[in-house]
Amino acid sequence: MVALVPTMGALHAGHASLIKAAAERADQVVASLFVNPTQFGPNEDYDRYPRTFDADCRLAEQAGATAIFAPAVEEMYPAGSLTFVEVATLSDRLDGQSRPGHFRGVATVVTKLLVAAEADMAFFGQKDAAQVAVLRRMAADLLIATELVVCPIVREADGLALSSRNAYLSPVERQQALVLSAALRQVNELFRAGVRESEALMAIARKVLSTEPEVREDYVALVDWATLEARTTAEPGNLFALAAYVGQTRLIDNLILG
Ligand code: AMP
Repeated sequence: MVALVPTMGALHAGHASLIKAAAERADQVVASLFVNPTQFGPNEDYDRYPRTFDADCRLAEQAGATAIFAPAVEEMYPAGSLTFVEVATLSDRLDGQSRPGHFRGVATVVTKLLVAAEADMAFFGQKDAAQVAVLRRMAADLLIATELVVCPIVREADGLALSSRNAYLSPVERQQALVLSAALRQVNELFRAGVRESEALMAIARKVLSTEPEVREDYVALVDWATLEARTTAEPGNLFALAAYVGQTRLIDNLILG
């Protein structure tokens, strides 16, 4: 059994949790380290995305990876490449709405990585919940037999979801960023208390985000996790997702209700 764990490097304990989960299920675990240019917009952070290859190799190996795949851009996109994978409609929702072309880049690179690794299984984090929806749809549509496994969000002790982009945060911003997970905790409490109206759940999330004036909402949404369509009434299994800028840094976080 071959398991693939696709990453863009700058590995942290969230990535390690995927590699560990993969090592429990498969005898060969390929961790890919590839900062995929096609999933970045023209004004995004492709050039300055953290690249920590040596530390990544150590972390991946310690977590149980048996192979590292760190291709060059020209290997993944041979000269004259014309083929892309596009999951219509879904790719324009949530992060796809804020980042046009992002999910086209993700779907394309994940397809290539699955083929290159001949993966029986591939492991992804719930952290990127919209990505999970896009990739599940893609795998079903393209008759891709690889089993997609989704692992829970790994957080710092104070609630902040681990992200390679947390490295961009100043100490002050790091503190401000706590409102994202705090907002989700409030949403979870309301949901547990029986509140089902999306307006009420989104309002509490926005209220918590607004306690930090330096944090700017990108989106707050309650959606069906499979279709990413907005829901007016929340049900267990729905995705409550948010994205916000903390200074220049765009962070995402989410909660699966119930
Ligand atoms: P990235 O390197 O950011 O492209 O992420 C590679 C994989 O790690 C994706 O499937 C992410 O969802 C997953 N991942 C990133 N952060 C976390 C986290 N805090 N907990 C769990 N998985 C994560």
